[in-house]
Amino acid sequence: MLDVVVIGAGFSGLQAAYSAKQAGLSVAVVEARDRVGGKIWSAPLASGRGFAELGGAWINDSLQPRVWAYTQQFGLEVVRQRLEGTAIMQESETERFEFPFGVTPEFTPEEKRNLETIRDHFQAESLKTGLPSAELDNVTLDQHVRNLGALPKIAKMVNMWSQVMHGLESTEESAAWFIDYCRRNKGFLAIRADDSTGGQYLRFQDGAQSIAHNLAKLVGTANIHLASPVDSIKDHGSHVTVVTRNQQTFEAKMCIMSVPSTMYKEFEISPALPKAVREVTDGTVLGDYNKLIVCYDTPWWRKEGFNGYFASYAGPITLGRDTSVDEKGHYSLTCFVNGLPGRLWSKLPPHERRAAGLKQLANVFKNNPEVFKPIEVFEQIWQHEEFSRGALAPVHSIGHLTKYASVYGRPVGNLHFVGTEYSSEWKGYMEGALCSGKDGAQQVVKALRNVPVKL
Ligand SMILES: Cc1cc2nc3c(=O)[nH]c(=O)nc-3n(C[C@H](O)[C@H](O)[C@H](O)COP(=O)(O)OP(=O)(O)OC[C@H]3O[C@@H](n4cnc5c(N)ncnc54)[C@H](O)[C@@H]3O)c2cc1C
Repeated sequence: MLDVVVIGAGFSGLQAAYSAKQAGLSVAVVEARDRVGGKIWSAPLASGRGFAELGGAWINDSLQPRVWAYTQQFGLEVVRQRLEGTAIMQESETERFEFPFGVTPEFTPEEKRNLETIRDHFQAESLKTGLPSAELDNVTLDQHVRNLGALPKIAKMVNMWSQVMHGLESTEESAAWFIDYCRRNKGFLAIRADDSTGGQYLRFQDGAQSIAHNLAKLVGTANIHLASPVDSIKDHGSHVTVVTRNQQTFEAKMCIMSVPSTMYKEFEISPALPKAVREVTDGTVLGDYNKLIVCYDTPWWRKEGFNGYFASYAGPITLGRDTSVDEKGHYSLTCFVNGLPGRLWSKLPPHERRAAGLKQLANVFKNNPEVFKPIEVFEQIWQHEEFSRGALAPVHSIGHLTKYASVYGRPVGNLHFVGTEYSSEWKGYMEGALCSGKDGAQQVVKALRNVPVKL
């Protein structure tokens, strides 16, 4: 019998397995997909000029020590996010304005003051510690900022924050959830920043999935069972039996589940998880967090003085960035198609999705004919992925963050839970997945050492 079976080979599952192995435990990782990495997926360009990051891409070298340590250990090359040039704000199909990157856009003085008040409120709230209050958990983010006196234009901008950060509308998450997310992730400003102070600073030349491939080697590829979706988990008290759709059976003393909590209800778990655990996990939702990546021969937008960054209210795309890797001759604009606009866009047929995206890009970049000359286009809709069902990370129902704090993510019998959603640091990020994976393995090691398993 194995010491531990890990379900899922995303960053948290691989890290949990590696930490358990380092502690001397025998491990097996059972993964549904035919690849490792989960929501990290680097698709090679047909032209051979690097990779398109269909999932997570950005890291930070000083704020995210775990992912940075692996970057160095595995000798991976990174590129700094290019910020030089002008950013664009698209208000509607007919209104757009350009602004120096990194400054508050040119609103009226009243709107500017109002935006700064709201922004400073979240930054101050996010530097506090502990869980936000139940009162804040029972009000939506949208209602909260309106209560704070947000003007309509600023409430609309807050909605864009929740779309680009979580793939949800600001009416769909609680103020407490938003603040807690900022608290765990070095503050609101760090989450939003594209320079060395924030989460969108560095990218991998050869794709973020290189970390997963290298971690898989450390776990031992023979210990990782791909294309094996788990169907059922039975906790016998003395040990756990995990059975896959293709009828493989794994017996282990403990099980680490690294699948997003929104998906626990898809497993046959016996005995059933306690009622409170089911209520909180069944209630989490995964956002509409999609990417449209348009690759070009040249970075034509730079010639016009643009840095490729734009935010928009005027189409399916909510945010765009230059994701070129110049060293590889790869030039691309990565567009986030998130929240409600992303939800509607994802239901269109593929050719209409691309047409809507390119049309919006043309609008943003002053009808530059180069927009319509991509060499490759990638689109990734995480809601369509059977083994992800959305992104970025599960978001609690209104009121559930505080109501179920004492049970959420806590072990149940021999079942332990990991995943970026449970991380005390960089929740929702690769760093958070690594942090939670390591913590989960430590829990298991401790449980196996302290409580002799009855055989
Ligand atoms: C579009 C997008 C952009 C992002 N941008 C960034 C970014 O720039 N920087 C950053 O740090 N993070 C980013 N993220 C977030 C980052 O990708 C995640 O936080 C992280 O990868 C989550 O890891 P995880 O192990 O918690 O979950 P997952 O990666 O979801 O891993 C869960 C694993 O479980 C497997 N699984 C599911 N069902 C079963 C089953 N029945 N049986 C067996 N296995 C199963 C899945 O296939 C998967 O491999 C982004 C994510 C997306 C989607």
